[in-house]
Amino acid sequence: MPVKHPSSSKFRILLMSIMTVLFVGIMTSLPASALELGGGYTIRTYASPDPDSVNSHFIETPGGVIVISAQRTFSEANRAIARVERIGKPVIAIVIPVPHTDHFGGLTRWKDAWPDADILAAEATITSMRTDGEGYIASRKDALRDDFPSQAEVLAALPNIVVTDGQEIDVDGLSMRFHDLPSNNAPTNTMVELPDHDVLFASEVVEDGITLFLKDADLDVWLDQLDALEADLADYRVFYPAHGSPGAPGPLIAAAKAHLEFYRDGIDAALADDGIVDERETADLVARIEAAYPDHAQVARLLRSDLIAANIGWQTERRSAE
Ligand SMILES: [Zn+2]
Repeated sequence: MPVKHPSSSKFRILLMSIMTVLFVGIMTSLPASALELGGGYTIRTYASPDPDSVNSHFIETPGGVIVISAQRTFSEANRAIARVERIGKPVIAIVIPVPHTDHFGGLTRWKDAWPDADILAAEATITSMRTDGEGYIASRKDALRDDFPSQAEVLAALPNIVVTDGQEIDVDGLSMRFHDLPSNNAPTNTMVELPDHDVLFASEVVEDGITLFLKDADLDVWLDQLDALEADLADYRVFYPAHGSPGAPGPLIAAAKAHLEFYRDGIDAALADDGIVDERETADLVARIEAAYPDHAQVARLLRSDLIAANIGWQTERRSAE
């Protein structure tokens, strides 16, 4: 029989469970190492604790700080803000790179601390924040209560600058080139390139080391995006992903491609004989993905297998419709 797709209520329970696990997570974080770019520009990263760690990147400029990603919760935003306050300069711009709550749930706190900061995002991200069409904001609010904004608070801190694919914006003398790419780990992902410094903030387009979220992904489109990055930016100095450690582009891109190909090839192989991915085939592929990526443990093991199974279901539906 065809694989069952998770109902929205089951998915909501899954998300709430993930958030609960997050809440009781061990309080650890990656060390914040600084990368001096010269000319008065320095990059630092704050990573919230595992499981389900999310990065905020800080670009110190001569006159301020540019923040990429605002954290998931008020408490994590407060920790990230404390790191920025040590720099001793005001936040002048905040980029929201992904229309998922782990990247804007804490935005209210940043806005409280620096009301004059510009907030930049793609149109699709702003629309998602404004309408909560997927119900993500509502479900996170249920789970996180006072540590997460209401929809009204999200509306009060919406981005004020829309960025588009290919656009270049100068912030305090720093040239930032935006790349808005659809159908990957989210409906859209906004990457920020610093072309004068050979640095890319790769958002969730280039990442390994976490369990993927393939609800909105087109694996072929996403793999094409990675091929284009490999062709264009493989000689860059460093990529900073939205989750996980920064690193050299080559290995990060290779790992991201291998992860997607594992899903794609497994699903296509299961579809090849009879056009369906049955329960046994799904269970087999979940087990193989978990065995191949034992370190992808930011969410509890049972929940991770549920998410992988959901990924297979979403992608089976998409690929069998092609
Ligand atoms: Zn994320």
